[in-house]
Amino acid sequence: MAHEADVVVVGAGLSGLIAARTLLAAGLRPLILEADNRVGGRILTEEALPGLPVDIGAQWIGDTHHRMFALAEELGVPTFPQYDDGETSYELDGSGVLRENAFHARFSGELAELERVLRRLDEMAAEVPPAAPWLAPRAADWDAVTAGAWYDEQGLSPVARTLLEICTVGILAVPTVEVSLLHLLFTIQTCGVTAELFAESEGGAQTTRFVGGTGEIPRRLAALIAEHIVLDAPVQLIGHGRDRVTVHCRGGLIARARRVIVAISPTLAGRIMYDPPLPGRRDQLTQRLPNGSAMKAFFVYDEPFWRADGLNGQIISDVGPARMSNDSGVPGDAHGVILLFLEGEQARVCSQLPEEQRRAALTAELVRHLGPRAARPEAYVDGEWSERQWTRGCYNANCGPLVWTAYGSALAAPIGVIHWASTDTATRWSAYMEGAVDAGERAANAVIAELSDGHR
Ligand SMILES: Cc1cc2nc3c(=O)[nH]c(=O)nc-3n(C[C@H](O)[C@H](O)[C@H](O)COP(=O)(O)OP(=O)(O)OC[C@H]3O[C@@H](n4cnc5c(N)ncnc54)[C@H](O)[C@@H]3O)c2cc1C
Repeated sequence: MAHEADVVVVGAGLSGLIAARTLLAAGLRPLILEADNRVGGRILTEEALPGLPVDIGAQWIGDTHHRMFALAEELGVPTFPQYDDGETSYELDGSGVLRENAFHARFSGELAELERVLRRLDEMAAEVPPAAPWLAPRAADWDAVTAGAWYDEQGLSPVARTLLEICTVGILAVPTVEVSLLHLLFTIQTCGVTAELFAESEGGAQTTRFVGGTGEIPRRLAALIAEHIVLDAPVQLIGHGRDRVTVHCRGGLIARARRVIVAISPTLAGRIMYDPPLPGRRDQLTQRLPNGSAMKAFFVYDEPFWRADGLNGQIISDVGPARMSNDSGVPGDAHGVILLFLEGEQARVCSQLPEEQRRAALTAELVRHLGPRAARPEAYVDGEWSERQWTRGCYNANCGPLVWTAYGSALAAPIGVIHWASTDTATRWSAYMEGAVDAGERAANAVIAELSDGHR
């Protein structure tokens, strides 16, 4: 027997969960069909040791993630600030390992150059409408070059250029030659300014964490609407007509509704079959929106020994496989936790290595920056995302050259009874959890407006 609902939501990531909750609050009956055996999607918390959560997926929110702060408060998930006392350890362009103060003293001119380029990016990003980047006055020019090519033209010294690459890849999870300048400017504009995007403290995107891990957010959200969620239900085919949808899952489950919200990344949305087929422009778009490549690797120690040494646990390096790291300890737990990020090319290469080899290369990097104690972790956990069938890469979908201007308007525009969510379609903090909430609310509100408007 087919399930009946007002609205089928495809995917129980944050965006789908928020969409369903918004629909319920408006008196509609949602049904979420989730392919995996869990909710949360790109949010995933595991235990590195009993009682010690680590976020394999999303970990932080920033000061302007107002929807996420409100959600955490509503769900009763306490937050705590990211540990940030002490110096960052740098190693760039053959500099050897340098602590932050020494690095700043030695490269003050290069850092000033970098600051100049960031200010220029902010000025350009301010001209990009986040809901329609293709309408920016210079969209055609900016979409025709890659961010990397534009960076190369800014007359930066090698240290400044490398630092800019590392910071940008830390956000996009692909080399800057793979995204258009317009896409980078769109990303900056949806997040505010480069200072909010790149900084780890003082207003950056990574200031605050969740007690118990970020997984608490989707877990508690799902518990509130549990009877509206079906797990292990991969959607394979969406039949759509003027005012009805019929959604078919692997395993035979069928759901009928008046609308469907597809709350999955565009690449995965393009792998669903649609009957009748979607317009060619929408399909061409989803053929051109690849997800990035990122992995996180956690090393757990008996204590955060680097703190006593005046280090904050952050590394910025172009030498080892990880370009950045972070102190990911948990208040109330004595263990020290270092998280290493593998992003873009490093993720692609290292994900193909056997775990012992990957771990050995990362350990060597930690020892160089934190000292010999870094070679003796109590536990190691890493998480790869491109292997996961229902994610296929992260952090989000990025547009290469000429995608925004040729196809951008097909990203979030509903097609008849089919609406699109997922953070990749957001106009505020796209790619982040904040964006997932933004997109879920936007899609749900559009459906609510249609269904209360007599479009039945
Ligand atoms: C390693 C990593 C680190 C990150 N760090 C941060 C961070 O620190 N801060 C931050 O704000 N954001 C971060 N992000 C990004 C953040 O996780 C995402 O922006 C957000 O979780 C996306 O939510 P979503 O609902 O849009 O998509 P998803 O989480 O991708 O949800 C989509 C859901 O749809 C399901 N699905 C897929 N295909 C189908 C199908 N055919 N049928 C049914 N269901 C399907 C999936 O299983 C999934 O549950 C990170 C992401 C990763 C992976």
